[in-house]
This record gives sequence, structure tokens and C-alpha cells, in this order.
Amino acid sequence: MNFDDFEAWSKHFASWAADYHRTLRDKPVRPNLEFGSTLSKLAKSPPTKSEPMDEIFEDFKNIILPGITHWQHPRFFAYFPANAAPASILAEQLVGALASQCMIWQTSPSATELEIRVIEWLKEALGLPDNLQGVIQDSASSATLSAVLTMREQALGFKGNISGLSGYSRLRIYCSDQVHSSVDRAIWVAGIGQDNLIKLPNVGPNHSMDASALKEAIKNDRKKGYIPAGVIGCIGGTSIGACDRLTEILSIAQYENLYSHVDAAWAGSAFICPEFRTLWGGIELADSIVFNPHKWLGAQFDCSIQFLRKPELQLNTLKVQPEYLKTIGHDDAPNFSEWTIPLGRRFRALKIWFLIRAYGLEGLQTMIRNHVFWAEKVCEEVRKTPGLEIITEPALSLFTFAAKSNSKTINLLEKINADGRIYLTQTKIKNRTVIRFTAGTWQMAEADADAAISVIRELHSN
Ligand code: PLP
Repeated sequence: MNFDDFEAWSKHFASWAADYHRTLRDKPVRPNLEFGSTLSKLAKSPPTKSEPMDEIFEDFKNIILPGITHWQHPRFFAYFPANAAPASILAEQLVGALASQCMIWQTSPSATELEIRVIEWLKEALGLPDNLQGVIQDSASSATLSAVLTMREQALGFKGNISGLSGYSRLRIYCSDQVHSSVDRAIWVAGIGQDNLIKLPNVGPNHSMDASALKEAIKNDRKKGYIPAGVIGCIGGTSIGACDRLTEILSIAQYENLYSHVDAAWAGSAFICPEFRTLWGGIELADSIVFNPHKWLGAQFDCSIQFLRKPELQLNTLKVQPEYLKTIGHDDAPNFSEWTIPLGRRFRALKIWFLIRAYGLEGLQTMIRNHVFWAEKVCEEVRKTPGLEIITEPALSLFTFAAKSNSKTINLLEKINADGRIYLTQTKIKNRTVIRFTAGTWQMAEADADAAISVIRELHSN
């Protein structure tokens, strides 16, 4: 395989990919397989001699493809979407061809400068304040870990990285009980410890952190000698789409001099539509915000944006500059690997640039508005279905429902997913198992919402 063969094969793969996407609706969303069914078909040892690409591709189609869950399927209503708009797939092809390492400005000047520009575009698109800067990370988990490390270091006077944590087992971080598990993991990895992540109850229709409980917890912790270090806000929690009342909780964080981070990994994309921005009112008070264009917006995985009000705090936490990574004579240029944990960085800005230019903000807004509207439509039809009950109302395009008992709900979910026409996942609310429905895939049309209603009704009545 050389670059002449490569040209022919990439054309072939491009037409296969276009066809794959055009015919996705005819396939079940998720394979119904037992563990090991792919593994058993794979050669036990690596080949010693080269194999022809047509054989490798045949095996891809016959062995790998049958075990793929089709995340781009228009009737994928599970988890959250991980959209790959066609223009962003094309950008990723170019990124693959360049295979650049974008760790410091010098290692790909255009990548750093495009990253600066697309972050400014996104900031404007989301209606965020001008004074924010930002960086592209691989995932929200990494951005949240970076923010938690910054909370830790700020609370310890930036001495934790130097002296270790043995003298400091009393840091506290506060969030609601609706945050994503990436927050728990960040707390573990940062050496703060699960016991010091204080999860406050959620209240009100948006399942917001109880602000008076936050105030009380900080006050009591200070009395007991703990060191409050940060507050993590949740906008569009994974389970049911919980949204904290940011004005209240971030004002408390500011008053208490605590670093704050807001996880809007999924919901953030919706705020390109001004009418949804009331859900994150007060966001301008946050020190750090994460949202994933790789979820709803259409930038192919992976692509997560972290906005920062005072990037110097994260740089004081993460920046390391060995001699071999200095850019002599260009000290003014940002080196984005100093803002994040991994050194190596993919060229992720390109797909955002392609995405926004190819569809325009208006095109992306229309997609998001449609998803919210169609989720509401499905919700209303489920509400009318005897034996089914809406458990949480739509938060943007996510709502939950259940049958009369947990076993009936699980039974319905299993029937739906074995059927394959749509794909849904579950969560738990106070010991009640509920089914999540979230609309959001790039190719979804209203007919797919209608199909979801018919499948749910048909399999519920069977
Ligand atoms: N935060 C929320 C609200 C999420 O829904 C998810 C994943 O679904 C994450 C964080 C983690 O995202 P990532 O996979 O980018 O780390």
C-alpha cells in the first residue's frame, strides 16, 4: 500500500461512506449480539506478510460492521448524540492526511491560530462574554479534570504539584447530585477523594443544586477546618438534563472565593439558539466552562471546548516547559498543550471551522430547534399512551418516561432495543427505572420522531 493505492482506496471508501450514511435507516440501530461474536472471527495472531487491502476491507464489512452500533443512525435516541456532520468528516480526512501534532504553536502554526479563531467564533455563537479565552480538549472528562486540578492548586496556593498532597486531605468540592461521573473521576485522579466531593440535593423543576444547602455546606466545612476549593455546576446533566441555577450558585462561589467550573458538555450546543440561553443564565460568572461540539453540534468525535475566564490559573496548574518544547523567539504565541494534560494534540479546530462554514450558524440552529421540537412531540404522544407516564419533562431534547413498574419498564426497553428500529437507554430516578429519550442525530427527520412514537406504542401494547 503506497500513496498511489491510497488515492484509489480513499475514493472507494468515500463512496462507501456516502452510501453507508444514505442507507442507515434500513439497518437496525444496534446489533443484537453476545460478547465474543466479533472476537471469535478475528485472526488470533498478527499476519507476518502484508495482506491486500481488498481482503482487509472485505473483513471490515463482514466481521466488523455487523458488530457496530450506528451512532449516526437517524433513530439513535440513546445516551446523547455524537454527531459527525459530513463537512466535519471531510475535515477529519484532511487532518488524517496531514497527521499534524499540534502541541505547541511551532509544531503547526495554523492549527494554533485556527484554534484561537474558532474558539472566538464559538464564544460569539453561544453569547458568552468577550473576556473568555479557551482551548480545545479531547473530551469533557479532560476539561473537568483540568478544572478540578486548578481548583486544587488555587486552594493550595499552587503548592500541591510541588509538595504533594499528603498534608492536605481536607479539600472540599461542591456539586449537585446530577453531575456526570466524569466529575467523580476527576476528584479521584486529583487526589481529593470521593468523600470530599459534596453532592448536594437537587430542587425545583430544573433539578438545580439547592443553593441554600451549598451555602450551609461551605459554612459548616469551614467551621470544621476543611478547605473549600471549588463548585461544579451542571447544565444539561446526563441522566435527566438537570440545570443548575447558575446565577445563584456561581454568586456563592464568587463570594466564597471558590473556583467554578460548569459542565455543559451536551446542552452547551443548544445555546447557539438565543431562546434557550435562559437555561444557563449566570454563565458569565463561571471561571471554566466545558461543552462538546462532538455531541450535538456535529463536529466529529473528539472535540471538547473549555472556555476560561482566567487561563493563567489553569496554566499555573498544568504548564510545564522543558527546553525541548520551547519555541525560541516566539514567546507571545500560545502553546495549547500547556493548557491541558496530554502533550500531543490532534488538529481539532479544522472540523469546527469546516462545520460552521459549511452549515452556517443558521443551519445548526435549525437542526437544534427541530430536535427540541420533535422531542416535545414524542413526549406529548408518550404522555397520551395508557400505561406510560412522563417522569421528567423535556430538558431541551431529553425527557424520561416509564411504565407502571420497574420490571415493566425494563421489559419495554429490552423489547424496543431487541427490535432494533430505535435505540433508547435507561437511567434511575430515586430507585425508579426510567427510559431516556433524547433527539439529536444529524440526519434525524420528523418521520423518525413519528417512528419512535409508533415503535414505543406498538411494543408497549404487545
Ligand atoms: N458531562 C456530561 C453532561 C456528559 O453527558 C458526558 C458524556 O456523555 C460527559 C460529561 C463526558 O463527556 P466526554 O466523553 O467528552 O468525556
